Amino acid sequence: MPDVPLWTDCNQACAFCSNPTGDFREQAQAHSFEALKEKLARHKAGGGERVFAKFDEVRDYFTLTGGEPTMHPRFFDVLEHIKREFPERELRMLSNARTLASEPFARRLLDAAGIPFETGVILCGPDAETHERIAGAAKGAFSQTVRGIENLLRLRKEGQRVEIRMVLTALQMPSLRATLKFIGERFPEADRVTLIFFEMEGRSEWRFDDLKIEMTECARQLDALYSILRDFRELRLYHFPLCALPARLWPFVWNTLDPRKVVFKLECRDCPVRLSCVGIHKTYARKMGAGDLRPVERPSGLAPTGFPFHPFEALRR
Ligand code: SF4
Repeated sequence: MPDVPLWTDCNQACAFCSNPTGDFREQAQAHSFEALKEKLARHKAGGGERVFAKFDEVRDYFTLTGGEPTMHPRFFDVLEHIKREFPERELRMLSNARTLASEPFARRLLDAAGIPFETGVILCGPDAETHERIAGAAKGAFSQTVRGIENLLRLRKEGQRVEIRMVLTALQMPSLRATLKFIGERFPEADRVTLIFFEMEGRSEWRFDDLKIEMTECARQLDALYSILRDFRELRLYHFPLCALPARLWPFVWNTLDPRKVVFKLECRDCPVRLSCVGIHKTYARKMGAGDLRPVERPSGLAPTGFPFHPFEALRR
């Protein structure tokens, strides 16, 4: 599942964005249709060369990222090219869905993407004030994102999924309960809700003091919302080492971090769940010390899946 950064520019400036700083957003030329075609051809040829920085070696699907991928000036040409060159691959796209507030655009996307296709939409809060403040977005952005999600849910075909994502930082936690309730009430047909502990790198470093929170504190607040979390059609937690979470949240854990981005502490050698754990994001270890993370007992009553990306199933009753 290589992450394919389609377009570096974005119509938001989310406080937690981990995209690189510097001239990242000025690299339009490196993401022109021609440049992307050339990269995709090299990726298709294989040969051991790493073309895309994240997950280049995985070959079952593409995740289109940005910036905001739908802002690419030749977005549909890129999409159609990928579908033509890699017809067997599933497509996923991460978006803030504001462009999808336009029904014709959303309809054209769903037609061009085919099946299987999944859109992951970032939501930052339960109302315009909270969402637009955290997303660094202009007035009206929240209602565009909401309309974008509604269009996706209304116009999608069988085999096209919609995920709603939240990145967890200290800014989101006070309104998390309200945001989860909003998602549950407004978008009950959403296939999945995914909560992601933020990566302390790139643009998010600019507001690090506002964003920082210990993982175990974030987990404690999540656990207090367990009765809401368990009611979603599907809930996933990304970027949490197992020891950060109470055992009843382990069945929601999916391990999606690139192994090159994580470290393990010395004491992790003796941890009974070491082989099921995603590890500690290097930036969390460096900036927060990771003193809150330490080996835990393997809980009884959890069923191992044997699948490294999703190591445990729901608690047996
Ligand atoms: S102690 Fe280390 S290996 Fe064990 S769950 Fe925590 S981070 Fe993972």
